[in-house]
Amino acid sequence: MGRVIAIVSGKGGVGKTTITANLGIALAKRNIKVCIVDADIAMANLSLLLNMQSCPITLHDVLLGEASVQDAIYDGPEGVKFIPSGLSLENYRRVDPERMETIISSIKNQFDFILLDSPPGIERDVLAIMNAADEILLITMPISPAVADVLKAKITAQRLGKKTIGVIINMIMGEKGEISDEDIMRMLELPVYGLIPYDDEIRKSFLQEKVAPVIVRRPQSPSSLAIQKTASKLAGLPVVFENGKKQGFFSRLFSIFFRKKKQPIQEQAAKPKTK
Ligand code: ADP
Ligand code: MG
Repeated sequence: MGRVIAIVSGKGGVGKTTITANLGIALAKRNIKVCIVDADIAMANLSLLLNMQSCPITLHDVLLGEASVQDAIYDGPEGVKFIPSGLSLENYRRVDPERMETIISSIKNQFDFILLDSPPGIERDVLAIMNAADEILLITMPISPAVADVLKAKITAQRLGKKTIGVIINMIMGEKGEISDEDIMRMLELPVYGLIPYDDEIRKSFLQEKVAPVIVRRPQSPSSLAIQKTASKLAGLPVVFENGKKQGFFSRLFSIFFRKKKQPIQEQAAKPKTK
C-alpha cells in the first residue's frame, strides 16, 4: 500500500504546487512509483507547471462519476504519474470533493507515494484532501503570516486525526527578519523535511518556451538539490539539513516579554521635574 501525502500550507503562494511537482519527479527519478494529483480542484495549476494542460480526462470527471480514475492517470516527466484537475468552474461547482477519499484509496496499491497538491485555506476542499490522505506534509515560508497559517493547518489536521509528518520551509532568502528553521520547528513541534532556498530558476519555470519544473530543467540548481534531500528523507534515506537561519523569532519574542518593564505613568508623573 502506498503512502498518501497531502501537501498543505494554510497560506497561498508558498510553493505547494511547485514542491508537489518537483518532489514527485525527484522521487520518480529514484525508480519509486509516484502519482502526483492536482487536488486543487478549483484553481488547477499543476498541469500548467507540467505542461500537460490538454489531458482529456480529469479528476473533475472522476469526482462527477463520469470517468474511471484509471483513465485520468497520465505519464508525466521522468516516470512520474499525474492526475490532472479540470479547468471548468462549472464542473468545479458540481463536484463533491468528499469522494476524493474513495477515489484515492482505490489507487493506493498501484503506487509507493501519492502526493496531493492542495488549495490554500482550511475549508471544504482542503478538509476533503486531508481526509483522503494518510499523512500531512506542511509547507511554509519563513515569514510570520505563512507560519501563523501553517499552524492553523496543523491544528486542523490534528482535529481530523491525521498525522502531520513534518514541515518544508520554502523560499528561504537568508534575510534579516526571516523566522529561523529552529523556531518554526519549535512552534510546530515538527521535524524539518526540507529547507528550500528562493531560487530564480523556479520563478523562471513558467518563462520558458517549453514550461518544465526546475528539477527537470536545472537538476543541479540549489532548489533542485534541496528538493532531492526532501525526497531522500521521504524515502527513508539518511539526510542532513544545514541550518537555514539561526537568528530567532522566539528569542526576539522572549526579549519583548522579558525586557525591563517601563515605569508606570503615574510614577513618572509624580517625579519632581528637574529644572
Ligand atoms: P502555491 O501552490 O502554494 O500557491 P506555487 O507553487 O504556485 O504556490 O508558488 C507560488 C509562486 O512562487 C510561483 O510563481 C512559483 O514559481 C514561485 N516559487 C515557489 N517556490 C519558489 C522558490 N523556492 N524560489 C522562487 N520562487 C518560488
Ligand atoms: Mg498551488
